[in-house]
Amino acid sequence: VTVTLTGFGGVGEIGGNAFLLEAPGLRVMLDVGKRFGAAQTMGGEDRFSPAAFERRPGWNDYFDAFQKPRAHMAAADLGALDLIPWRGALPRLYRPDLGGVSGDSPVDFALVSHAHVDHCGLIGLLRRDLPIVTSPLSLATLRSVEATGVGGWETDYTDLRVRGVLQRNKKGGLGDVRYSDDDPRVERPFVTSPQAVTHGKWALTFHAVDHSIQGAGAFVLTDGDTKVVYTGDFRRHGSDPAKTAAFLKAAAEADVLIMEGTRVSDHGRHGHGTDRESDVEHEVRALVEAHEAAGGPPFVGVGYPPRDLDRLRSLHRVAASVGRRLLISAKQAHLLSALREAGCEEAPDWRTSPHLGVLVRGGSHLLRRPGEMPIADKQRLAIDFIQVSPAEWLDLASRDLARWEFELLGGRDEYQGRDRVITQPVPFGDPHVVTAAEVARDPGGYLVSLTLFNMTDLFEVFPDRSAAGGLYIHSQTQPHNDDMEMDQFRLHRWLRAFNLNAPDHEPRRTHVSGHLAQEDIQEILETLRPKTLVPIHSERPDLTGDRYERLCRAQGLAHRAVVPRWGHPERVA
Ligand SMILES: [Zn+2]
Repeated sequence: VTVTLTGFGGVGEIGGNAFLLEAPGLRVMLDVGKRFGAAQTMGGEDRFSPAAFERRPGWNDYFDAFQKPRAHMAAADLGALDLIPWRGALPRLYRPDLGGVSGDSPVDFALVSHAHVDHCGLIGLLRRDLPIVTSPLSLATLRSVEATGVGGWETDYTDLRVRGVLQRNKKGGLGDVRYSDDDPRVERPFVTSPQAVTHGKWALTFHAVDHSIQGAGAFVLTDGDTKVVYTGDFRRHGSDPAKTAAFLKAAAEADVLIMEGTRVSDHGRHGHGTDRESDVEHEVRALVEAHEAAGGPPFVGVGYPPRDLDRLRSLHRVAASVGRRLLISAKQAHLLSALREAGCEEAPDWRTSPHLGVLVRGGSHLLRRPGEMPIADKQRLAIDFIQVSPAEWLDLASRDLARWEFELLGGRDEYQGRDRVITQPVPFGDPHVVTAAEVARDPGGYLVSLTLFNMTDLFEVFPDRSAAGGLYIHSQTQPHNDDMEMDQFRLHRWLRAFNLNAPDHEPRRTHVSGHLAQEDIQEILETLRPKTLVPIHSERPDLTGDRYERLCRAQGLAHRAVVPRWGHPERVA
């Protein structure tokens, strides 16, 4: 059997995985990740040097939050810039309403290893009939991200809306396609069966692995003769090493092993840090206890990856042991509910846990109090003040929330004609539905999830900034690109502005990597001994490749490593 692999992302870079695997009777995409780019071009070197421009660009080299691809031609624009797989028949991989090309699908399946954007971020662009194989928890995560996000084609993960094209209206005129709540949902064909998916002679099996997001997995593909293994992202010493161990058993005697090497380097930049999630839990607890013992301002904020269930559970346990309530965002609460609905028992129930609650952030109404409120006279451009009763405030504050948030937090409403009537306002002040004003009343009662996106909550928590202070713990990866450096700078500014971590205002750091340590890669390769190793998702695939070939030569084996080149079909079996 001849197997070829063409890399369009994750080739000599960390993330953005997108590999086309072709074998007789099978064509699949191994992950459909977004390549962020820019990230890889920094690190102190001259970014305008010829060498820097030689590097393969990613989305952030051309686009940002304001400069976007043209929606009706998004796939074509991204394809023209080589930012997505767009060679040969691959333009047919994408939705025609976003600039993809109509015709038969160039692949049978997309296999999505986990719900990190650098592995799944192109799903929104994919044609609607393409089956996507992933885990139930990855699907639940994608659904939650989609339901709680700002919308747009980038997060058309599960529910598809046609965009950028016309439709005939009832009177025969032309207009944009519009949707109402009554329109049937168009769901993508996700395949989350725990059994192997079969396609002709081929069996595709998902194997759960331990990684820094729930539902992560690897894939084993076999036609009974040739066995191809794709690892996705994984580690051995997170909170569930048994999962990874079981996968490695299934990966034995692989003909082709396509394996991540995020932390492979010759200078250790990605190599440091502990590998045990339990260490993070102990370190955070020790920091909080020391802070409390020191007797300063009792506030504690913590920043961490918001969709990492393992980290959230670690912090939840810390909160319980120090007698505080972990306050999460409404998006995180939505994700926990979605995971529980998908059968994930490890996801704590934020509605009942005595040590968990949602910090609700509304717009202006929620942040004001009942009592005197400004009212505008539009004609005179003047502001007057009126008295607003607590009941009126509840109504206003409930309307302040996004619909999904309103419903998640227990609000109910109905339409009377075109008027939305709040029949049951959100129970602000319930121990599980907390506003920043309540944190201000009892800053020692909480462990507040606090990232750069909600630093303005600090104005509410500390109305008198001269009395501000407390502890801030940063439980996230070290910055490794320009954007992240800039974020770090802003974080420092906020910590200074609210006197957190005085006197040096340095964030207190504790984190574990989601990826295999370098030594583990070596050990796994020595055990698995694939006939062909394909090192990917790494800035130094050459190092892993060389080490592996040397190891095999020393054992008298002719096994080889294939370091993929972008866009080149490589024969791997
Ligand atoms: Zn990942």
